[in-house]
Amino acid sequence: MSQKIVACEKSVEIGSPVVLWNAAGGLACPNRRGRSACTQHNSRLNNKPPEPAAEYSIADPTQAYDELKNSVYQLIIHYDVCYSSHHCHQIMTESTFKGSHFYLDLDGTLYQTCDLYWKTNTAPADDRKGNERAIHVEMANLSWEALQSESDWHKVASDQYRQRKDRWEFLLPDHWKKTLRTPNFRAYAARGYGQRGYFSRQINGKIVRMWDFTDDQYNALIRLSIGLNQLLPKIRLRVPYDSKKKRTPLDRIRNYSTFEGVLGHAHVQKGGIEGVSCKYDPGSAFNWPRLRRAFASEIKHPAFPR
Ligand SMILES: [Zn+2]
Repeated sequence: MSQKIVACEKSVEIGSPVVLWNAAGGLACPNRRGRSACTQHNSRLNNKPPEPAAEYSIADPTQAYDELKNSVYQLIIHYDVCYSSHHCHQIMTESTFKGSHFYLDLDGTLYQTCDLYWKTNTAPADDRKGNERAIHVEMANLSWEALQSESDWHKVASDQYRQRKDRWEFLLPDHWKKTLRTPNFRAYAARGYGQRGYFSRQINGKIVRMWDFTDDQYNALIRLSIGLNQLLPKIRLRVPYDSKKKRTPLDRIRNYSTFEGVLGHAHVQKGGIEGVSCKYDPGSAFNWPRLRRAFASEIKHPAFPR
């Protein structure tokens, strides 16, 4: 199983399974574009809907890598409001503009959908320049759509998690279960909140109720962040943190456009501007302290030489 991620045809091993877009079972981004700070492609690709695949060539990968290293400095984390990464890919494919460099499935499998040289349209951010500086990962999680009482898009007939002893299991329909790379994988929320299981906190003005991601997803996300930091060092191993309150804020941060590191969609996009909506992901259940601890430990004792 491949464990590498790719930028400008250069790859690094991340120590966690990755299915590349051009491998068997790969999922290719349907709506890639060019980044305006990079010059090794036809600039017609920067803001146009998808062109034929042959148009997407990188003229000089070495030059392209230098440009990419200088212009990309954020990894933005999303939940996909989908049952699984294949479901997410289906939604992206039905759209004329959506895409994400990575999908992170319930079982921890990462799908890289295109070379990171390309831009995907996932988070414009409040200055509308968010996609130029970022790499995106869509983590499989239904968010509030898992709650029967709050499901609006999927209109589920019952809550999509059930308590099994002391854990909460995601009741993934067979149709999507079959698309997971790990046969018979059972998706448990990494943590439960009290008797009700789901977390509930206010983000950018809305109460977000959702169950946690899986342990496999957190482990893969940490490996992905470390790998990205090796490939694109301006993506530093840090998350937003309020040192007075001793916690990661959940709302849009002040310095969202210059922050170098790993942050959530909600940290960069509160909306209120025409064409830019308010965002809440990766949501109330996301375990920011776990990421922060893993990054601190990697900086102190690197598992991978750099
Ligand atoms: Zn998002």
